[in-house]
Amino acid sequence: MIPLIIGWGDNSKKIADIGLMRCQNCSNIVGAELRELSKQINIFFLPVSKWNINNYIMCPICKVGIKINESEKKKILKETIALPANTTSIEIFNKIMVNIEQNDFQKLKNKTDAIVEELLGLGYKSDDISYVFSFILSQLPNTP
Ligand SMILES: [Zn+2]
Repeated sequence: MIPLIIGWGDNSKKIADIGLMRCQNCSNIVGAELRELSKQINIFFLPVSKWNINNYIMCPICKVGIKINESEKKKILKETIALPANTTSIEIFNKIMVNIEQNDFQKLKNKTDAIVEELLGLGYKSDDISYVFSFILSQLPNTP
């Protein structure tokens, strides 16, 4: 008789990229992930049973997650469905931030058109660029 190999443990699966956020734990600006965490039994390394399923908004850098319920999950998925993939958002974010020295955001505002032009030239979608720009502006201290 072949013995069953049963592995117990936590299993985390990415459900979706849900856009940029400033992590409340590590303070980095990251592409947040919606992840499902569950307990599961594996037989011969194949999952056969899952239980205790919970959803989290997770920071991919420090791995800290904020637990959300099912209706919050649905709402977040609906709100973020049109957003670019995290890798794209972070690429655009980095290309925009290269233009900012010493938090000189006024300079960024003056150069917005040129930066958008450059990003479009690199093949990024204008919706994606607008999304990242509005995220960056939402992070700025209020200026008169
Ligand atoms: Zn973090």
